[in-house]
Amino acid sequence: MPYPVALLLTLTVLPSPRPSVTALVQEPAQPPVAQEPATPPAHPLVAGVSSERAAATVRDLVALGARMGGTTSGERAAKLLEKRFKAMGLATVRQLGREQWCHEELSWSLVANIEGDEPLPLQRIWPWGFSPAGAGSGIPLQVGDARTEPGRGSALLTDTYMGVRRKGTPSNVVLVDDANTIDGAWPVCRSLRRRGEQATTFGISAPEGARLRAAIAAGKTVELDWALETVIQQAQPVTVVATLPAAKDAPAGHFLICAHGDSDSGGPGANDNASGVAIVLEIAAAWSAAVASGALEPPCREVRFAIWGTEIASTRAYLESDLGVGVIGVMNFDQAGYGAKGQRLHVEPDDLKANAGFIASAGRVLTDRAGEAGFPARWATNKSLGGTDSYVFSGSRRFRDEGLPAVTLYTSAWGKPDEQPRTAGMPGESWSDRDRVAIDYDEHYHSAGDLPENTTDREPENMGWCARVGLLAVTDYLDGLEGTTGELPADDPAAEARSDEGRSSK
Ligand SMILES: [Zn+2]
Repeated sequence: MPYPVALLLTLTVLPSPRPSVTALVQEPAQPPVAQEPATPPAHPLVAGVSSERAAATVRDLVALGARMGGTTSGERAAKLLEKRFKAMGLATVRQLGREQWCHEELSWSLVANIEGDEPLPLQRIWPWGFSPAGAGSGIPLQVGDARTEPGRGSALLTDTYMGVRRKGTPSNVVLVDDANTIDGAWPVCRSLRRRGEQATTFGISAPEGARLRAAIAAGKTVELDWALETVIQQAQPVTVVATLPAAKDAPAGHFLICAHGDSDSGGPGANDNASGVAIVLEIAAAWSAAVASGALEPPCREVRFAIWGTEIASTRAYLESDLGVGVIGVMNFDQAGYGAKGQRLHVEPDDLKANAGFIASAGRVLTDRAGEAGFPARWATNKSLGGTDSYVFSGSRRFRDEGLPAVTLYTSAWGKPDEQPRTAGMPGESWSDRDRVAIDYDEHYHSAGDLPENTTDREPENMGWCARVGLLAVTDYLDGLEGTTGELPADDPAAEARSDEGRSSK
């Protein structure tokens, strides 16, 4: 999302008694390190973080289903979270969001009967959201394009179907084999535009689509047996909020640590965003245990942990409710359990003046700890890219007027490599002096392949990094609030929402 170069040049660092971001000393390039510490780091605040436990949390969440707001799997996830927070001794409240349409696919199957072959159960498939429930047997499959609709009692294989034309019939079905991850291996989890009114649609992988196409091209008949059980309804997403009380006589207000609890796309959502949920739980567990044991004083501000029932919508509901009145800063986690290429941690956005103090805190932690056991060797800050919950806050009038920080920590964004201009005066890549910042990606983004075995189980250390860096950055930032003048920053047009609508979300 480009915006004027002149705007970038006018950004300055907040007046602050703390060292400015530009004063950060960069470590020389180091080889990526992806090791869980043999012995846990000694700092009492991070000693309780476990990457392996975070990976187990992700597996537990994914086993519950897609956890979409308003669904039974979302409810099961909320119960799991309440149980985990309660075990930490933290009080929780539920916040119900506005009623919204939701879809929950309960079971599905798709078998291709190719003339002369054994029945072929298709493996790499995923039902598009808001597909109507249904079933069919011996349904003849034809190949078509965007203008083709499956006739009554027929099935369509297409690479371009938009699914917006005609009402579905009880037995027809559409297979789309070109809405896949960049390697073609997994169908991306998409949704139909007209809830329950179009032909039931499945994404299928490129290799499975190619096999069906080859059979049809060879003149063989292909018939499908298929079934989909699903619930489409209006319901309220459940957000769970837990509180770690502040020290006695602390100033009012709370710092919020959060992640979206739904899978966003309707897929398994291991990296997006069970990873973020697992990190918030690790932070809550480590911090509350350190306080309960007396190793640490209670925090100098109340700290809250929120797991959003639905990305963006639940976040906005919180900010606009009484619960959100006292929020003084936000640290969000999204896609923080895996990265395709780089072993590194990203912090964004670094082009909002309101974030400069927090970025400086995170930068100090990352610079001091780079390469240490349990911390990433490499890290980067980048400009506003939008599409995640922290932008709901940073785009709000109050955060802009009061210069409050709202950042997201992550280890991958979206489904393919990206590169962005470095923000003037900000760290950018810790391992280079380039004026560009490479944004790592997850090839399983929003797909049926966003499974623990493909993402978080491969790089559980990513969640450990995020939890430890987050803990130390927030405490550094909160400590720095003591004695600040309360001086307000000038208008910051870069904070204009850029939030969510009209673009894909992390
Ligand atoms: Zn996400």
